[in-house]
Amino acid sequence: MENVIIIGSGPAAHTAAIYCGRANLKPLLFEGMMAGGVAAGGQLTTTTEIENFPGFPEGIDGSALMLRMRKQSLNCGATIQTSTVDKVALSKKPFKIYSGKQIFNTKSLIIATGATAKRLNIPGQEKLWQRGISACAVCDGALPIFRDKTLVVIGGGDSAIEEAIHLTKFASIVKVVVRRDVLRASKAMQDKLFKNDKIEVLWNTNVLEAYGDKALKELKILNNQTNEESMIEASGLFFAIGHTPNTSFIENQIKTDALGYIVTKPGSTETDIPGVFACGDVQDSKYRQAITAAGSGCMAALEVEKYLNEAS
Ligand code: FAD
Ligand code: NDP
Repeated sequence: MENVIIIGSGPAAHTAAIYCGRANLKPLLFEGMMAGGVAAGGQLTTTTEIENFPGFPEGIDGSALMLRMRKQSLNCGATIQTSTVDKVALSKKPFKIYSGKQIFNTKSLIIATGATAKRLNIPGQEKLWQRGISACAVCDGALPIFRDKTLVVIGGGDSAIEEAIHLTKFASIVKVVVRRDVLRASKAMQDKLFKNDKIEVLWNTNVLEAYGDKALKELKILNNQTNEESMIEASGLFFAIGHTPNTSFIENQIKTDALGYIVTKPGSTETDIPGVFACGDVQDSKYRQAITAAGSGCMAALEVEKYLNEAS
């Protein structure tokens, strides 16, 4: 019987593992095997330079940062299993965790399975990924390749507007490509968008293809009302078309919101099942940063420790 099982391998999971390990709980962490299409280590393994994680003034490669966190989890006493959790049974204690043919029993559970940014899969995207095409403007927008250039954001929600406004700090102009003639974003965010004279909205528009050799240069777009195709210059293309939280293996046993994010008690990582905690992007559709994920991983570990002390 395990004291605590941690599912996930991003900053939230490893911070929880470091704290649980140091509390002598001997945590067992499932890092996944291409779970949700992402390598063990989570979303940061899909990017290059991380410039905003404290402690690395020169920046650090995303995969290198995650390898360091993994090493620190092991050094602090965690056991890491390289497999994906397929299923959990949470209706009674001990909780049961299924991975392949193996079944594990645990007194408590931390879910830190993150979220996956949605992509469009247009021709040219794979070749130019991280060469002008990104799913995170807040993370990548300040890179030199985007300075004083035309940048394009796809999406009409709050994220798209937030990302477009952020990009105006670096770009010469930001074009927001919206597939309908209305935005999904809140009125307050729309007001900010329309006040910003560095932002232009392309309504009823789809991006069809990305072109460039070593870096993104142009996009083919379609006006879906007139069926007219045209080319626009673009040095950056940012997808802001939503994220999918990695919660399918939970099979509705825990309360989630309308978008599938796990609901946690405000100011805590407690879910609606005592003994089950959630941290990182899987319960956070708002901040979605490595440092906030790590912070909530710490909270989850401290809450597990308290829960196990009170339960014994
Ligand atoms: P994630 O990083 O999402 O990792 C969770 C991982 O757990 C999954 O990827 C998978 O490997 C594993 N997993 C999932 N399901 C299972 C399962 N069933 N069983 C076992 N394992 C499972 N943030 C910053 O602060 N700075 C940046 O510069 C930055 N750059 C980014 C660039 C890109 C391209 C992207 C997409 C995101 C970026 N972010 C950045 C955001 C940051 O990556 C996330 O906020 C952070 O990684 C969330 O951490 P997490 O621990 O919640 O989980
Ligand atoms: P949303 O789901 O709200 O919006 C996604 C947007 O992407 C929609 O405009 C949608 O278009 C568009 N879209 C989806 N798929 C495609 C596609 N295949 N091609 C083109 N466009 C596509 O996601 P967000 O990430 O924007 O927001 C998620 C949640 O987080 C929301 O609740 C939001 O309010 C919140 N949030 C709040 C912020 C704030 O308050 N400052 C900041 C960021 C997020 P369509 O409308 O046609 O479906």
